[in-house]
Amino acid sequence: MESALRSVRHAGSCSSPPKRESDSLMGPHFLSSDSRRGLGGERGGCSRLRRGMGLGCLRNASKAALRRWRRGGPRARPPISQRGLGVGAPGVSETPPTFGFLFDIDGVLVRGRHVIPAAQEAFRKLLDSNGQLRVPVVFVTNAGNCLQHVKAQELSDALGLKVSPEQVILSHSPLHLFHQFHEKCMLVSGQGPVEENARNVGFQNVVTIQDVRKAFPLLDMVDQSRRPKELPPPTTDFPTIEGVILFGEPVRWETSLQLIIDVLLSNGNPGAELAAVPYPHIPVLACNMDLLWMAEAKMPRFGHGTFLVCLENIYKKVTGRELKYEALIGKPSIVTYQYAEYLIKQQVERRGWPSPICRLYAVGDNPMSDIYGANFYNRYLKAACQARAQAEVKRSVGVADPQSEDHSEPKEDWYVSLESCKSILVCTGVYSPHGDVPADPHESTVETVFHGHRDFRFDTSLLEASYVVQDVNEAVELVFEKENWSQE
Ligand SMILES: [Mg+2]
Repeated sequence: MESALRSVRHAGSCSSPPKRESDSLMGPHFLSSDSRRGLGGERGGCSRLRRGMGLGCLRNASKAALRRWRRGGPRARPPISQRGLGVGAPGVSETPPTFGFLFDIDGVLVRGRHVIPAAQEAFRKLLDSNGQLRVPVVFVTNAGNCLQHVKAQELSDALGLKVSPEQVILSHSPLHLFHQFHEKCMLVSGQGPVEENARNVGFQNVVTIQDVRKAFPLLDMVDQSRRPKELPPPTTDFPTIEGVILFGEPVRWETSLQLIIDVLLSNGNPGAELAAVPYPHIPVLACNMDLLWMAEAKMPRFGHGTFLVCLENIYKKVTGRELKYEALIGKPSIVTYQYAEYLIKQQVERRGWPSPICRLYAVGDNPMSDIYGANFYNRYLKAACQARAQAEVKRSVGVADPQSEDHSEPKEDWYVSLESCKSILVCTGVYSPHGDVPADPHESTVETVFHGHRDFRFDTSLLEASYVVQDVNEAVELVFEKENWSQE
């Protein structure tokens, strides 16, 4: 897994010659469940990922990019005077982008069912005269109670451009990579098309909360009106559940909380008499850790993170032990940003842009998911860069010594392009500056109450946005200015 995802990010370099990648670099985001207090405090990620359908694609994409690199080598950036000319400029074609955008959706582009006007303005700047995006863009949302192509269509309608499903990352999209669970019997929780979503990311054998409730009607007893009137015959042919996927907040929380706990306590056989409580319990994968989210109401609404708080506390109260996650997916998890980077590079390949993407700008309204996640990924990129430099020094020393020279073939993963992931906080959603946009973002974006997940350390420095702007249009203008791109 590590080598596969490592190869995602090797499509060339913007500013420096190819360097050797250190194998030790890529660890922080794939911490084992016991190393949860490591870098940035994230745990889990995908420590047990193996090569799956997604990984093969990642490796192939990287190889193609590498071949292009070897043919053409790194392209020097043109002088500023020649950069950023819009496609409308007569006789001048636009310079290939070396940066891309990650846009959150709710609170940045839309509020509930209503598009934020600044988003339409922003996308007019992002499109060329042919209606094509001038730079790579992916939409990264922690929403998950919908289908990818439906979300893409909603965005297309709202923003006035054709958004493809491949540009949309829902909270569960990185589950594509969790190949080792795809053939297991998984209980899925959430609302909306959870079964279809599970199938779309590779799971072939799923049961729902409703299936469990129907098979074991004596388990769901909170709502007296839904209790069975007569004693049902026992169910004997229900499959053993081997794992749980928490896609998003369900309806009827009491039912889902009760049945998920039952499944964990019974080792996947909720109809059985309770023996010793198994620990560790069967694997749990959770998508979307947002405690709150912003819709049309003036106050934030409960998100899936709130449901997880309930589940974790009930499990601990009942068993005396911590609920463990096999993986936490969705922002601010690193694996989500890696997946976004992979999709950005796919776009670059499809469009035939010759330059590698060096800088990402992540625009969001939620300090705890959007800003924390982007900063966490940026920290990871910096650590990787530093370790690469150290590995390069060691390699240079080794080359000077014939006894220790490495004569093996160069590895593909010498080539690294992405240098940074900057966070941009907008004030059209969850975050409210309570007044004008502050001059010093360090004073304004630090939350005093930690809304992040239990397994993330409260690192206040990761809540500080690189930039704070009023809305997404200002965010695009800011980035274009920094990249010396024209606004038209
Ligand atoms: Mg948001």
